[in-house]
Amino acid sequence: MLKKIILLFTAVMFTFALSACGNTSDEDGTNENATISNPYSDTEFLMGTVVSISIFSEGKEEVLEMAFDRVRELEGKVTVNEEGSEIEEINMNAGIAPVTVSEDTFNLIEAGLEFSEYSNGAFNAVIGPLTQLWSIGFDDARKPEQREIDEVLPLLNYQDVEINRDERTVFLKKEGMRFDFGALAKGFITDEVVKVLQENGVKSAIIDLGGNIYVMGTNTQGNEWTVGIQDPFSARGSVVGNFPASNLSIVTSGVYERYLEVEGVTYHHILNSETGFPFDNDIAGVSIISEKSIDGDGLTTIAFAKGVEEGLAFIETVDSVEAIFISHDKDVYITSGLEGKFQVTNDEFTLMESN
Ligand code: ADP
Ligand code: MG
Repeated sequence: MLKKIILLFTAVMFTFALSACGNTSDEDGTNENATISNPYSDTEFLMGTVVSISIFSEGKEEVLEMAFDRVRELEGKVTVNEEGSEIEEINMNAGIAPVTVSEDTFNLIEAGLEFSEYSNGAFNAVIGPLTQLWSIGFDDARKPEQREIDEVLPLLNYQDVEINRDERTVFLKKEGMRFDFGALAKGFITDEVVKVLQENGVKSAIIDLGGNIYVMGTNTQGNEWTVGIQDPFSARGSVVGNFPASNLSIVTSGVYERYLEVEGVTYHHILNSETGFPFDNDIAGVSIISEKSIDGDGLTTIAFAKGVEEGLAFIETVDSVEAIFISHDKDVYITSGLEGKFQVTNDEFTLMESN
């Protein structure tokens, strides 16, 4: 009995000590928000891309490893064409049987199917058989025969997917169907990294998953971060312009990063599941600015399907989302929320007036 009371007392003391501690740092505010100019940062090659994370919050070095661990964990679950990944397991069981997956994988699949519905298949979670046929961005890329395209088109119906949230099972109903989350996985994982940082008290950071950027908090001067938009026509490094941002995701996709050239015709990597060919329009690059990176990732793909004019009008209708479109003529178009914020700094490009 006495022992119990002592234990209880210790627990109370401990709670008190913790909350006292919390109060001190809350009151003067310095500890929690202190930033360092030389961040804890690391770069690794994961998911076929360069992943960089920089943490500017003082004393939060150990969170860096936790963030990379989460990236590796998710990569293992959702990467396609990788034996042992849950997505590949589903693909291999297409037309055979439902597969039980983890909560993470289920969430990604659910989001992918929502984007598919939302865009009427412009974004298509089961585009796998078609992307595999073209293989754009890989050594074996080629322009397929019409006959081959005709064979895979019937396998691209996202309504032929059966999911069950309670059982956490996923079934591709037709043999030969394949999920491809190449257009969504980086955004999904970026959001999960943001969660790891937030849950561990990081207030200031920059996450870059191969083109999916997230800027958290403010910089060491307490100002918003300056985000540069990459020139879609040149190798990584040069920018078109910039704008200030805080706690936002910026996803950029360009046609010149991965493409295939056959007899003078350029085929880029976002494919139309109705024709079996890449979407062909005036977009050279598009960036989407949103709170969630998964939304930015899905919306860049949908924007590609629409072209500059229709794409701009479409993004204007989406709440709290902004976009920058760059045409093949090097004209830059921005949504209304970026007016007065986005500046073109590269004189090869022209900022166009809206409406
Ligand atoms: P990246 O950041 O590599 O440019 P994106 O987010 O633009 O990637 O997505 C491109 C990838 O999406 C392609 O490589 C392919 O795997 C997949 N994909 C291509 N067309 C579609 C489509 N219509 N719907 C969904 N995914 C697609
Ligand atoms: Mg995308």
